[in-house]
Amino acid sequence: MPVPDPGHARSREHLVGELPSPLRPPGGCPFHPRCPEVMDICHREFPPAFKTGESRLAHCWLHAPTRQDR
Ligand code: SF4
Repeated sequence: MPVPDPGHARSREHLVGELPSPLRPPGGCPFHPRCPEVMDICHREFPPAFKTGESRLAHCWLHAPTRQDR
């Protein structure tokens, strides 16, 4: 989110790892090669949409209602 203050300093999070090939995306969640929160299930299954708020959805296993760090 932009901050309308040119003097505002903010830290940036640098992702590690290689970008996956768009021609051969990885199985499971396409972010799993670079995600710091990756779990076993992220390698195997694409996350469905989980409701995270009144009108918000997230395709991320972190928001699974019965998450067990599979
Ligand atoms: S499902 Fe969520 S936790 Fe898993 S790799 Fe993707 S973004 Fe990360």
